[in-house]
Amino acid sequence: MKLPSRSKAYMIPEYSLTGDLLSFLTCNLQYRYQNKGTLPPSKPVQRWFGEFIHGVMEEAFIQWKQKKTEFPWDWLEDIRPIEEQIDLRLQARGLYPHDEDLFFSSVNNEDTNLNEHDHKKLASARAEKAINIWGKHLFPLIDSSELLIKGIRNMPQYDKNRSRSNYYGINGVVDVLTSMKINNTLEQTNLDNYNNKIIEILKKNNDFQKRINESKDRDEYEIIIDYKGMKRPAIEVDDPKSENKWESHKQQILTYSWLRSQQEDSKSIYAGIIFYLNELVPSKEDLMLIKEEMENGLIDDETLEKYEKDFDLITNWQEDDKAPELSNEFKLNRSIRIINIDKTEIDNSLEKFDKVVYDIEESLIKEMKGNKIQDAWKAEADERTCTACDFRTFCKNNKNKTKDFKIP
Ligand code: SF4
Repeated sequence: MKLPSRSKAYMIPEYSLTGDLLSFLTCNLQYRYQNKGTLPPSKPVQRWFGEFIHGVMEEAFIQWKQKKTEFPWDWLEDIRPIEEQIDLRLQARGLYPHDEDLFFSSVNNEDTNLNEHDHKKLASARAEKAINIWGKHLFPLIDSSELLIKGIRNMPQYDKNRSRSNYYGINGVVDVLTSMKINNTLEQTNLDNYNNKIIEILKKNNDFQKRINESKDRDEYEIIIDYKGMKRPAIEVDDPKSENKWESHKQQILTYSWLRSQQEDSKSIYAGIIFYLNELVPSKEDLMLIKEEMENGLIDDETLEKYEKDFDLITNWQEDDKAPELSNEFKLNRSIRIINIDKTEIDNSLEKFDKVVYDIEESLIKEMKGNKIQDAWKAEADERTCTACDFRTFCKNNKNKTKDFKIP
């Protein structure tokens, strides 16, 4: 008697918006080594800070909900314990801050006497500003935090003899604001003199207002929030050789809004908000990049004119100088970005997501068929990414390899 063989396990590949899409777009080969291999980056500073600030904001929201502590929060008393908690969580996942310049980790240090100097470490300074500047406006509007959103899509260019599955899954985690919370906040404050900065910015946003005016269910909507532990990216022209972060972040929010719309309890999504939290306390590197963007004409004239004083300070600032005293208005406005959500934009971003998934799957299939890793995955990234990359010494991208072994 012939025994039937067990059918192959049915597996749907799952892709996350940040872990896969943004990471693959940064560099295909780096993504392969970091995400599909067993090589965690030795000092993933960018990733550590991104996850750290995300965790700090989420935990601060939970504590605000429970205790309703008035703003501004005291760093040592209210914020530092949150930082430690998040740092420990990240350590358990093998993520550590780069060095003491970034963050004083009392867990690894016997000297737990924190002083003013430690308070000024970059990560702590940003956490404090993020909570005290944006937290106080944002937390009262949040309806759901850390909401897991998932969806399923047809595998692009499915071929039963080649593809791993006929579907793929997408997932992401977001915070959601609702019109109900926004309206409650408005009711509790003086309508003519509302003081919630986020509501104020939304009221001045033409696309958002148009959306509300045109809608039948103007009192039933949601806004999706994401925090980024990075500076505001420049508005760039698409270059196939490097990731256009400005565009990718928009696509991420649009895809989130599609995922959210698949959930039963969702309302219409009218906008997305991204917080670029480095802008609240820019590092020297961030300031150098803003300077470069100005020199390369990547900042529009209207913005240059509006914040002329701040841009002048940055132009005259040199790397060894003390950081320029930028205005709060400048920092605040650079740290928030409103994304307009509409159906055509969502469809375009989903198409782009499909294309990225197709490219990842193609590289995976090539590797599974016996191609060498470096032949199956493209090695292309901008100079900054390559300089900080753990794999540059053996990367096939010769330009970066020679940089490391430059002979004087
Ligand atoms: S060195 Fe640059 S091209 Fe090579 S893997 Fe790293 S980021 Fe990619």
